[in-house]
Amino acid sequence: MSQMPLPPARLVIKIGTSTLTAGTNRLSPPTLVDLARQISNLRTAGNEVVLVTSGAVATGRETLGFPQLPKDIPAKQMLAAVGQPRLIAVYERIFGLYGITVAQVLLTRADLDNRRSYLNARNTLSALLSHQLLPIVNENDTVATEEIRVGDNDNLSALVANLVDADMLILLTDQPGVFTADPRHDPTAQLISEVLTDEIPPSLWEAAGGMSSGVGTGGMVTKLQAANLARRSGTTVIIARGSDPDVLTRLAAGEHVGTHFRALDSAIDSRRRFLLAGSAAGSLAVDDGAAQALRRGGSLLPVGVAAVEGAFERGDTVRILDSSGREMARGMVNYRAADLTRLLRRHSDDIEGLLGYRYGDEVIHHNDLVLL
Ligand code: GLU
Repeated sequence: MSQMPLPPARLVIKIGTSTLTAGTNRLSPPTLVDLARQISNLRTAGNEVVLVTSGAVATGRETLGFPQLPKDIPAKQMLAAVGQPRLIAVYERIFGLYGITVAQVLLTRADLDNRRSYLNARNTLSALLSHQLLPIVNENDTVATEEIRVGDNDNLSALVANLVDADMLILLTDQPGVFTADPRHDPTAQLISEVLTDEIPPSLWEAAGGMSSGVGTGGMVTKLQAANLARRSGTTVIIARGSDPDVLTRLAAGEHVGTHFRALDSAIDSRRRFLLAGSAAGSLAVDDGAAQALRRGGSLLPVGVAAVEGAFERGDTVRILDSSGREMARGMVNYRAADLTRLLRRHSDDIEGLLGYRYGDEVIHHNDLVLL
């Protein structure tokens, strides 16, 4: 089969506990070195990578010598609190071999549900990527309660893919992909190479039902949930086996490995819908110069903002009105209304002096804006 290397892309790669431990109950440094080598090659080829990792709980358990503990949430949170810094330390050492600096990002669902922390997380990840750092994301297990937990890193990785507008989400697991039945019990089970239909067929959900891996939280069901979620926000999803030699390198070279889920939407359309969903919390009137800059794909700077209406907060969606009062765009604001009124017609260099803080030059970054 002819192969075309994939064009450089923004990738979210999720590594599950079963891959990190090579199926044992301890972290497997050779596995990590091998994955780090592949990720390093992906980056050298121009891809941007965000890693979502599990393994905090497993590392905590290993660190404490596999203690007998109750199977409740505080015990797990304790293990995660012990394991997370050690896990990151291992990543730091291993990626350091390839000259890559890692950064720890801990998130909960509540952080992504809340507009303000959503925007902060998005901007932080984007700053990390633009400085060629490697964000390593895990759930913030030590604070996560039932209400605010994502609960499994498969779904977390789909949320992260949406947060960074990823082109591709690669879920590395201990199975070669999704099967028509559980391959461990059914010898006729077939690997599914591609899911093209808008809905994941019910038979796949059923087949995934019984398949859980030994040490991690997720099974195939949470992987399907993640695929279902991420492909709707414009991300192609691949489920593949982390231990397959050079799995990431081969995927980047355009080889078909694992099960692929076609993206159902473009990332741009999905962001558009996200910004247009729900009501606007206020509006900004902009001058003709700013309107022109926006139409050319630029960001909205304070110098072009003539008036502010509404009591919105940072991260809210607002209307952008041109000089005739017509709504020309909508976007997510970097500054709350009360502060923005002090920035009208001012140069971006004055932001810090006027407010005592700054979230950047832009009132609305062009990535967080849709033209109407
Ligand atoms: N956050 C958990 C950990 O690092 C894992 C959750 C999951 O495996 O899905 O141990």
